Amino acid sequence: MTGEHPASEADHLESWTTAPLLEDRVAIVTGAARGIGLEIATVFARHGANVLIVDLAEPDAQAAAASIGSAGGVAEGIGADVSNEDDVDRVIQTCQERFGSIDVVVNNAGIIRDATMRKMTLEDFRAVLDVNLTGTWLMTKAAGAVMRAQRSGAIVNMSSISGKVGLVGQTNYSAAKAGIVGLTKASAKELAPHQVRVNAIQPGLILTPMTENMRDDIREAKLKEIPLGRIGRPSEVAAVALFLASPLSSYVTATVTEVTGGRYA
Ligand code: NAP
Repeated sequence: MTGEHPASEADHLESWTTAPLLEDRVAIVTGAARGIGLEIATVFARHGANVLIVDLAEPDAQAAAASIGSAGGVAEGIGADVSNEDDVDRVIQTCQERFGSIDVVVNNAGIIRDATMRKMTLEDFRAVLDVNLTGTWLMTKAAGAVMRAQRSGAIVNMSSISGKVGLVGQTNYSAAKAGIVGLTKASAKELAPHQVRVNAIQPGLILTPMTENMRDDIREAKLKEIPLGRIGRPSEVAAVALFLASPLSSYVTATVTEVTGGRYA
């Protein structure tokens, strides 16, 4: 794999603790049919969670759930668009019907529509805001209401380092991902009195279907910016999501964790 060191601490991520951290918890992970979301759902299931996989195409969500099931985990898949309020309400209702509660939500679904502002259309600006930011708000609002009532819960929002520094060609994505930081901090303060925690992750360059087709020269240029000198793995984002979702982070809320190999620190 380009840019990866042969031996890495990441090889040992799953062996550092044998205690299941999410035993009998119910977790919703959006955009989890592939990439970082699928890795998070897989790790959560390995740590004892019942997982509802949400993705645009129901067959893809169900296939991902089946792969977790065949590895001994408990997961179901549902098709939904996180930017559609009715879909989000259906996800919340389905989760409660199937699993009885909602303890963790990872707002991971995201899209990019990169172009310089000179060429970007309003449609592409709105589409990226809709899925990344409005989708996160809708899920946080709906799941937050359930969590408030049960007086417990953890929400993890997927921002991006693009939302911290602003990247050329991503006025839409940088705006959405910066918006997620504000949403995370404001909702964390609203929900803290109800014992619900909300935190965000800002990944850097992670090898997923979203990034694997990057031009070689662009990839090499980005690698030079990364102090750890390699591209990150989905499992390295999932490890931080596991921490933020679990009781290990019981006194952590309204934070943003960068998972970037030191890039743009
Ligand atoms: P990915 O491989 O493109 O996966 C994203 C998933 O979200 C896809 O399965 C996609 O479904 C689904 N999705 C898209 N729109 C949706 C919607 N409206 N409702 C429900 N699901 C939807 O992306 P990834 O690289 O794993 O990224 C996951 C998250 O991390 C995103 O929020 C991304 O912005 C963030 N992130 C990624 C990187 C990176 O380097 N990869 C860096 C920083 C932040 P379809 O396949 O059907 O479109």
